Amino acid sequence: MATLFIVATPIGNLKDISLRALEVLKEVDLILCEDTRVTQKLLNRYGIKTPTLSYHQHSKLKKIDYILDLLKQGKNLALVSDAGTPGISDPGNKLINKIAEFAGVEPLQIKIVPIPGPSAVTTAASISGFPMDRFLFLGFPPAKKKRKRFFEELSRQLAELKCPVIFYESPYRILKTLNELNSLYTKYNIQNTDIVVCRELTKKFETIYRGKIEKVIKEIEKDKIKGEFVVIVEGKH
Ligand code: SAM
Repeated sequence: MATLFIVATPIGNLKDISLRALEVLKEVDLILCEDTRVTQKLLNRYGIKTPTLSYHQHSKLKKIDYILDLLKQGKNLALVSDAGTPGISDPGNKLINKIAEFAGVEPLQIKIVPIPGPSAVTTAASISGFPMDRFLFLGFPPAKKKRKRFFEELSRQLAELKCPVIFYESPYRILKTLNELNSLYTKYNIQNTDIVVCRELTKKFETIYRGKIEKVIKEIEKDKIKGEFVVIVEGKH
């Protein structure tokens, strides 16, 4: 039976990889990568010589068919993204969906096996200090047209939601996003809501900003804004 392993990889610190992930990456016939150059750094670090093939969100159906053919031939494959868990704001779902159609069909028998590990969303959630029994994860805010509506809805929901909201943001938009959120806080009367912004988790310049949004904005403005961000907004309780 062929297996497609969905393998989580580090979100910065290359030591954050599981023994099982290393074993799988070493033993599969081929690793499907979002960007082969990024994954190659990880493979070099651990002396893994497995061949790689690029697979991303815009990969053509032809590529998915090619991957399916490999599995049909009994090859074992691993799917990784540039960082973290595939499928979480990253490529993977389309491929998994297609493979799943065939997964249980005799005589093909393809297994889809998760190899869990880091993700920016759970890493940030773990240090937020907010009650995290449940939370709402929204991925990336839309970049253009739907953006205004996204933040309006988020602020309205925050006023009612009883759980924290987590989203990803790029270094180019982090301040714009926090300022947009700040102006909506007044409108929805949620100025007292705390926020945690995690920058460059597990990396050299890891920084956690905590407190009221205006304070966090000032601190981020003072620092050189570089790197990747996760934002966690406290739920009203
Ligand atoms: N699949 C990944 C995961 O499991 O976290 C997420 C991929 S998404 C394309 C990339 C976004 O995740 C970044 O823009 C940032 O918002 C967040 N992210 C990834 N690594 C991070 C890190 N080390 N520190 C903070 N945020 C990070």
